[in-house]
Amino acid sequence: MDGFEPSTSPSRTARATPAPHPANTYFVIELYQMPGTLYIVATPIGNLKDITFRALDVLKESNYILAEDTRVTKKLLMHYDIQIPVLSYQQHSQEQKKNEILRLLVEGKNLALVSDAGTPGISDPGNELIDFLLEKEPDIKIIPIPGPSALVTALSISGFRADKFVFLGFLPKKKRSKLFSWLKEGKYTFCFYESPKRILKTLEMLKEEFGNRKVFVARELTKLHESLYRGEASVVIEKLQKDPVKGEIVVVVE
Ligand code: SAM
Repeated sequence: MDGFEPSTSPSRTARATPAPHPANTYFVIELYQMPGTLYIVATPIGNLKDITFRALDVLKESNYILAEDTRVTKKLLMHYDIQIPVLSYQQHSQEQKKNEILRLLVEGKNLALVSDAGTPGISDPGNELIDFLLEKEPDIKIIPIPGPSALVTALSISGFRADKFVFLGFLPKKKRSKLFSWLKEGKYTFCFYESPKRILKTLEMLKEEFGNRKVFVARELTKLHESLYRGEASVVIEKLQKDPVKGEIVVVVE
């Protein structure tokens, strides 16, 4: 397969190094342990069919899967009948955990990192680990396996300009006004993740700060209760007030 052939056992290659004495005509053959690869694998954001063939191959053929919540990931693995040991890894996992992961890679194991949903590293665990590994072992191979992300999925159907946009992750709970003033100057589409508990309050703030700029709220994307709301903040607020707001949400502002 193109670019991906994780072995199930640690790989060893023979590396020839010259003997120390220049007069010697023979070579010493030394066994060199090839480090394993860390695959960063995007997984579905709801609909379990939203996973690539390549992601499934990588998950099936890795030695271990590193998961944010092992219970969530095991559901996905069960669905695809993948029986690979799952280890837990969270964004702020201790140094000891990162060292264990490094050791596995140095021993030649191939690992697949997944988060609960979407693309690791995007408001999810991944980047701290990658930074740690590359600092310690710059030769470790890190390969992305792209796939869904709630942010891009929402942007793609917002109908707003997305050739340039600002992604804010989860909004800070405080000092939002300062951030909003900065966004007003930029005039770019911006998007962020929001909890159902805060969405109405946040929309009220958007209404105050951005007047009639259109907003797009994408709820439960790719799931059974997927619902999309678009219009001026006041209109979206009205629609959402009719439904008790549950589920996962991305907000895009024109
Ligand atoms: N890394 C993930 C990604 O690439 O999509 C995002 C992880 S972040 C911790 C989780 C947030 O993403 C949720 O709180 C919600 O705001 C958003 N989200 C995830 N899945 C979603 C979905 N199916 N529909 C709408 N928003 C979603």
